[in-house]
Amino acid sequence: MDDARTPTEKANPGGASIASAPAAPISAGGENANGPQQLRHGHELPFVAPSSYLRPKPTSRTMPEKTASSPLDKEQMQGLRGIREFLKVRTSYDVLPLSFRLVVLDNDLLIKKSLNILLQNGIVSAPLWDSRNSAFAGLLTSTDYINVIQYYCQFPEEIDQVDKFRLSSLREIERRIGVVPLETVSVHPMRPLYEACRRMLRTRARRIPLVDTDDETGRETVVSVITQYRILKFIAVNNEQHTVLLKKPVRDIGLGTYSSLATATMGSSVLDVIDLMVKHNISAVPIVDQNFKLLNVFEAVDVIPCIKGGAYEELASTVGDALSRRADDFGGIYICGEDDRLDSIFDTIRKSRVHRLVVVDDDSRLKGIISLSDILKYVLLFGEEEDDIRQVGTMI
Ligand code: AMP
Repeated sequence: MDDARTPTEKANPGGASIASAPAAPISAGGENANGPQQLRHGHELPFVAPSSYLRPKPTSRTMPEKTASSPLDKEQMQGLRGIREFLKVRTSYDVLPLSFRLVVLDNDLLIKKSLNILLQNGIVSAPLWDSRNSAFAGLLTSTDYINVIQYYCQFPEEIDQVDKFRLSSLREIERRIGVVPLETVSVHPMRPLYEACRRMLRTRARRIPLVDTDDETGRETVVSVITQYRILKFIAVNNEQHTVLLKKPVRDIGLGTYSSLATATMGSSVLDVIDLMVKHNISAVPIVDQNFKLLNVFEAVDVIPCIKGGAYEELASTVGDALSRRADDFGGIYICGEDDRLDSIFDTIRKSRVHRLVVVDDDSRLKGIISLSDILKYVLLFGEEEDDIRQVGTMI
């Protein structure tokens, strides 16, 4: 997709909306900036574009053939195969830094208190521990808080109860709001990293706990949690000889989502945006102005400060207000153009803390979104025979 000259918003003006942009050719000539650009109006943030590489002008917008033919295709496939081999000889344990901190929360903790702990520690998720059975009890993520918010919306008369919920109540909350519980997957730290990636793609999990068995007690121990971000960073830092071969523009490889984009405006309520995230099963909603220009992105983790201290009524406040509560060290929003290439995106991942890239045209109008899951999926699965995918899928 395509130029967003006159976005078609299908919902109430000012409210969160699903907007689709009409197809039109992208005007050429704009360049990506090297490094952050400062754009400050209201709650707009500095955007960061991948470093520019020489970008060959694409001649077609069709998906590439499965069989590599041109030298560019061959090089791209060589890069992808190299990365896949790398992931097969490295383990999940290799991704962990030499020293790291792991915050594990007891299942008996009040949900309200868990929010403060995450915020104080600057983290957005934590493994849960069932101390009664001395067992790993799943992963607490922003999705759980979104479920609590949905519960609050469905049963507003139970607000006093919501404050008394413990982390162990999360499964019951899921049941009462009718959410299908996510499969709790984990991997052994010494298994190939490729296995963790395939498991993440199969379950749509954005993070996966590494669970080992204690030699003495025979009980499960959570070693750490690895995320899509950590894995892609690991590839970017340690496998540059293959990432530099990925020279095809994102437009040509169909990387990301370009239609039926869920978007909102600064005046949308936080609740509306959460509703979009739940309906579309997505972790971020681009915030645009009336001309479809990208102003910011509301991420699932932005929900956490909104409900700190049980202030659920603040969910009715605007996205603009909520975004102003972000930590001062927030890294900014990463953008790219459809002519950018995966090698430059990996270069950006190598240098920065990127969780997604928003695709914009030369006038900063929203074109699409590239999630880390899109990148991981492409890197692992593109060009694989369906049979191979199914075979590995049943093994993992
Ligand atoms: P994520 O939740 O970021 O892992 O993304 C899951 C899938 O949804 C990916 O294929 C994304 O390209 C797509 N996606 C992410 N955000 C949006 C959005 N706001 N609107 C439509 N699709 C999205």
